[in-house]
Amino acid sequence: MNIRILSRNPRLYSTSRLVEAAKKRNHEVEVIDPTKCDLIIEKKKPTIYYKSHFLENTDAVIPRIGASVTFYGTAVVRQFEMMGVFTTTESQALVRSRDKLRSLQILSRARLGLPKTVFTNYSKDVSEILDHVGGAPVIIKLLEGTQGLGVVLADTQNAAESVIEAFNGLQARVIVQEFIKEAGGADIRAFVVDGQVVGAMKRQGKEGEFRSNLHRGGSASVIQLSDEEENAAIKAAKAMALGVAGVDMLQSSRGPLILEVNSSPGLEGIEAATGKDIAKTIIRYIERNV
Ligand code: ADP
Ligand code: GLU
Repeated sequence: MNIRILSRNPRLYSTSRLVEAAKKRNHEVEVIDPTKCDLIIEKKKPTIYYKSHFLENTDAVIPRIGASVTFYGTAVVRQFEMMGVFTTTESQALVRSRDKLRSLQILSRARLGLPKTVFTNYSKDVSEILDHVGGAPVIIKLLEGTQGLGVVLADTQNAAESVIEAFNGLQARVIVQEFIKEAGGADIRAFVVDGQVVGAMKRQGKEGEFRSNLHRGGSASVIQLSDEEENAAIKAAKAMALGVAGVDMLQSSRGPLILEVNSSPGLEGIEAATGKDIAKTIIRYIERNV
């Protein structure tokens, strides 16, 4: 098979592991920088030029599109779809996953557990917003944030009001969420491929840190999911229509609560924590579909 990985950097751990896994299973594989593709759109014959040569015979693509190139990257994935190429992440699902608010709305419709969340455009009455999520402490999140940056824990009503006002003053859009204290600064990442959990880890924030992101100094260890957690992860990936997904959940006294569903989940942390060859499971997912 001819597999193309859409990634801007072949040296990234996830990209290079996917290349390795594809080669091991005797496929042709090439890393394509989506921002260097030209899309030719004409009657009945969609094609792609890459670095000014015609891109032929692609059987499948694995999008590893970074948040900063979502628009162009998605257009490239869509072009491959128009050409009848199998993709491990569909363009529609990719776009949806990049919108935190829309994702929460979709997950809520799928009746998944979520931390109660408020989004408002009219934030004159900040105390009313806080009442909706049960008052302080609350979590305030920048809608555009990633890797734990732009996630604030406000302990008191006063602190929360100041933070919300400050973000509003900067024209930054935020969501306000109930703080799940019993999660204890940890979260779960379940890696879902083709409707199955293929690996799961628990990430624990460093001492005194409520954010468990590895980028914020958290540490990861393998975890056995409960049936409820496993089902929630599978359901979340399905609701988001993602063939490959990193589902982040908090363990709460009312069961698993979904935080977000990542459409380009990294392989490094999960392969290290679980010792599993997750890259291979993605290649095998392609083999079953092409
Ligand atoms: P990002 O997308 O920037 O990683 P997250 O929403 O995943 O932002 O939040 C970062 C971390 O903060 C999470 O991994 C989790 O540990 C912690 N966290 C986020 N929301 C809550 C919450 N409502 N209650 C408790 N902890 C939370
Ligand atoms: N791609 C990295 C991961 O899935 C970072 C994405 C994130 O969690 O924001 O671990």
